[in-house]
Parts: sequence; structure tokens; C-alpha cells
Amino acid sequence: ERESTVSITVFGASGDLAKKKIFPALFALYYEDCLPKHFTVFGYAQSKMTDAELRTMVSKTLTCRIDKRENCGQKMEQFLERCFYHSGQYDLEESLAELDKKLKEQEAGRLSNRLFYLSIPPNIFIDVVKSASKSASSKNGWTRVIVEKPFGRDTESSAALTRGLKQYLEEDQIFRIDHYLGKELVENLSVLRFSNLVFEPLWSRQYIRNVQLTFSEDFGTEGRGGYFDNYGIIRDIMQNHLLQIFTLFAMETPISLDAEDIRNEKVKVLHSMKPLQLEDVVIGQYKSHTRNGISLGTRMIKLAEIRVQFCHVPGSLYKRCFGTDIDLATNELIIRVQPDEAIYLKINNKLPGLGMKLDRSNLNLLYSSRYSKEIPDAYERLLLDAIEGERRLFIRSDELDAAWELFTPLLKELEEKKIAPELYPYGSRGPVGAHYLAAKYNVRWGDVNTSE
Ligand code: NAP
Repeated sequence: ERESTVSITVFGASGDLAKKKIFPALFALYYEDCLPKHFTVFGYAQSKMTDAELRTMVSKTLTCRIDKRENCGQKMEQFLERCFYHSGQYDLEESLAELDKKLKEQEAGRLSNRLFYLSIPPNIFIDVVKSASKSASSKNGWTRVIVEKPFGRDTESSAALTRGLKQYLEEDQIFRIDHYLGKELVENLSVLRFSNLVFEPLWSRQYIRNVQLTFSEDFGTEGRGGYFDNYGIIRDIMQNHLLQIFTLFAMETPISLDAEDIRNEKVKVLHSMKPLQLEDVVIGQYKSHTRNGISLGTRMIKLAEIRVQFCHVPGSLYKRCFGTDIDLATNELIIRVQPDEAIYLKINNKLPGLGMKLDRSNLNLLYSSRYSKEIPDAYERLLLDAIEGERRLFIRSDELDAAWELFTPLLKELEEKKIAPELYPYGSRGPVGAHYLAAKYNVRWGDVNTSE
């Protein structure tokens, strides 16, 4: 049988994402022996660079896992030998035809499979896809394209992007990446739900009072320029990352682990959601964290977690044993996506001793204590899946449409009515309005500052 080869071309190889994530992830896969026997990595951008210069640039970004330092330098050398660079325009078929020639040289007559990674600004996505599909797509194997967000900024622009891509590609060639789907604990969410009898029967509104998804960053919006406007967080984090977690959390059991079965269930969740109402939204923005040039406020924390608050146990046998705060007595399941990956369940138990006092304890799965293995970066899993043609963790176009349909009317209303964000002190727990909103639904907002 004819041998096959995979060529991975990173468009925008001179950029931030390529250096920070893509090349290091490809190296990690190489180190783990996950890449096919015959593979080549091509960097492509307008900047002038030689192969040697690309290798020097890439070499500075590569690291080995703490538990895998053996032969690290040697492995890096071997990997870098497989990396090449082509300088070209994004919209010129001739430039892509030159790339095609170089790819063919490396493929050396083997069956050709090609993966194009668009690590470039979205306004040039279609140019690249058009010229690459005409001049550099595989003639005898597969051609796949990984697309980075943003996938538009509302329903219309997202649909226009999808239409543009589909002029040159079939849906199954398009791999829309949402790196949250490659995170270990997000992958584990389905395992937790569907392989443990103790959770699935309780996964219903009958037993769950509320679910809180929290995402916070430890840096401000400085330096993000105009892109990160007042409602940037809705487009940048909620419409994609948090909504993806939400659909995996809320979907029904899929028929199988097949990508289409899972994505069908996720789309069903999005279609069955009520439209978002302005009165159920609080927009906040922190006040400058300096006054008279002096830094203010406690440190903000980086956190992404899912917090499930269960209902009260019917009856109140032990209510008095806790004092007055009845909230203390409900179970909570917390799935901490980052940092310090963990799953813990808050339970009530008796304080040891002669009296009858209850205590709150955590049944705790802290990944760093349970597993010595370093957790792979999300990009490693996603790149490997794209190479293997596994689409489960990529966003299908109808899923993207449904996600935008949920947020676009709200975004339009916020913009039309020029809703001003509620200002809150830097490092605090966010706008007070969020707590009022939670109270309206009888919800106590989890303490993001302590993550306890
Ligand atoms: P970037 O550094 O701004 O751009 C990547 C490369 O594209 C640049 O090195 C440049 O290469 C080329 N480029 C930039 N602006 C261009 C323009 N206006 N016209 C033509 N070429 C241009 O972007 P990035 O941070 O690496 O991100 C790449 C993509 O991933 C973007 O779509 C971004 O939204 C998305 N993304 C990034 C991150 C991140 O952490 N950085 C996270 C999630 C998603 P040459 O001039 O050499 O061709």
C-alpha cells in the first residue's frame, strides 16, 4: 500500500499564536510519537525568513514536559529538521503554487494529506482559502483547514464567513477551533456525566438549583486596543468558550461518541434556549486600577470553573446543626477547568465527637495530586484530532449559527441602547448588579475570589 504523508502549513507563522501555541504543540505531539511517520511542517507568512531563521524562531518556543526531559535536545533537532518556511502573499495563487511545489518535494510521491492552519487575522481567511484550494490542495489525499476565531462578530458576519469558506471547502474540511474544547476538564465533563451513575440521574432541574459558569482573568483589557470594546467579553469568551462548556454540560446523552451525534445534541441545547433578555444581563467594567499613579486593589485571579448547586434535601432533619445559613447545607459540584484542574463535591458530614454538629467537607479530585503526568495543552489535542480527522471537538456551522443567534439580538440591543457598563473596583467581585440578578432567581453567586 502506498505510504502517506501529512503536511501541516501554518499561515501567519510569524505571528503570536503560531509561536506561543501551534509550533510548541506540534513539537509536543512529535515528542509523544503522535505525529505520522512522514510529516512536514511549513510556516507561511509575508515576512521574509529563511528555513534556518524559522527554525531559530521556533526553537526558542519549544519546551519538554517536566517528566520527559530525556533526549529532549535531540528530539528538538529532529523536529526542527522537518520545519520549513515559505514567504508569500496570502491572496496570490502564484505564491501558493510555489508552496505546492515545495510541499510536493517533501511528500516525495507519497499519498499527500494537507492541513492548513489559518493563524491569521479573519479579514484574510477567505483570500488564503481561495488561493490555497486552487493552487495547493491535495490531489490524492485529504485537505483540511483549521480556522481560528473570531468566526464573525454577529449572525450576519458569521454567516458571510461560512458562505465564503464553503465556496471553496466542504463542511467536513473545515475545523473551527475553540481551544476550550481541547481542555482536559472540558473533555472530562462528558466522562463524568455519562460514565458515573451517581451524577446522571441528578442532572436535572429537579435536583439542580442552578449552574454557574465563571471565567475571570488576571489581567485587564489594556493593550487589546479597539478590539476589546465594552461588549468584547461577550464575543470573545461567552459566545464561544462558555457556551461550548454550557452545551456539553446541558446536552442529553448522545447516541454515541461519534462527532455528529455529539454535535447534534449540542445544537439541540442551543435551539431550545429562550432568547436572552436585557433584564437578565449585567454588563460590568472595572475602574482603572491606578489612582494618582498608585496601583489599587487586590490581585485579580485567573479562573474558569463550573459550579453546580444542588437543591436542598427535602425535610430539614439537620438544619439546626448548621446554624441559620441554610445555603451551607446544599451539595455543590465544582469542576475547575483552570488553573489547578480539579473536581470536587461539597458534602455534609458529622463532626467527629459526641455532639451532633455537622461539617462541610470536600470529596476532592485534585489533578496535580492524583496524576503525576503533565496535562497536555489544548492545542495538542486539537491538532492531533484535526490530523486524525476527528471532528468531535470542532464547531459545526449550524452550531456556530445557533450560538450567534442566541447572542446577536442581545448584542444589537446593547449597542443600540448604548447600555453603559456598571463600573466596579479593580480586583473586586464584579458589578453589584450581578448579585442582584442572581438574587432575583434565588441564587447565591459562588465566591470567585476564593474558589472555595
Ligand atoms: P497576529 O500575530 O496579529 O497575526 C499573525 C500573522 O498574520 C502576522 O505575523 C502577520 O504575518 C500576518 N498579519 C497580521 N495582520 C495582517 C494583515 N492586516 N494583513 C495581512 N497579514 C497580516 O495574530 P495572532 O495573535 O498570531 O493570531 C492569529 C489568529 O488566531 C487570529 O485570527 C486571532 O484572532 C486568533 N487567535 C489568537 C489568539 C492568541 O492568543 N494570539 C488566541 C485565539 C485566537 P506576516 O505579516 O509576516 O504575513
